[in-house]
Amino acid sequence: MINVFLLLGSNLGNRNLFLHRAISRIGQEIAPIKQTSPVYETQSWGKTDLPDYLNQVILLQTVLSAQKVLEKILAIEIELGRKREEKWGSRTIDIDILFYGDEIIKDVNLTVPHPQLHNRRFTLEPLGMIAPNLVHPVLNKTILELKNNLNDDLTVKKV
Ligand code: ATP
Ligand code: CA
Ligand code: CA
Repeated sequence: MINVFLLLGSNLGNRNLFLHRAISRIGQEIAPIKQTSPVYETQSWGKTDLPDYLNQVILLQTVLSAQKVLEKILAIEIELGRKREEKWGSRTIDIDILFYGDEIIKDVNLTVPHPQLHNRRFTLEPLGMIAPNLVHPVLNKTILELKNNLNDDLTVKKV
């Protein structure tokens, strides 16, 4: 069994409902959810004039390959009404793979650990609530250390 951390984000429509529905479908399609972080309301990163997000990190343990997990999360995004229009545009649901065990993956369609996770407070705050001592396999720092070194002033607050 591999520990997989996923980041969920929603900034369109009933954001709470989209997080709930995503967790429910992930539990059915991928693996039972082992832990969920609190939900955070966060200022949109990258395109800062967009509506605020709700973000949450979840932990699952799965036997599926990382590519299979990606395939399933992309299908769940579409099922929940995700439309890909512009880069970092608003979306009903975004699901990213943060970590897949301690594996380092550099496929054309999949980079793990997620290449931006250490630059984003909206990711490190919820992740730090469930895995503060997890070591990033590329940067060799814990989530707590990454959070303390973070340079991201966007607002992130627990709801
Ligand atoms: P960001 O990755 O900066 O958070 P985003 O989540 O808005 O941006 P998307 O449009 O959701 O980007 O994803 C585009 C593609 O990124 C996906 O189709 C997928 O193939 C690829 N991808 C690469 N690495 C990952 C990962 N770790 N988790 C999810 N998708 C990934
Ligand atoms: Ca994302
Ligand atoms: Ca994504």
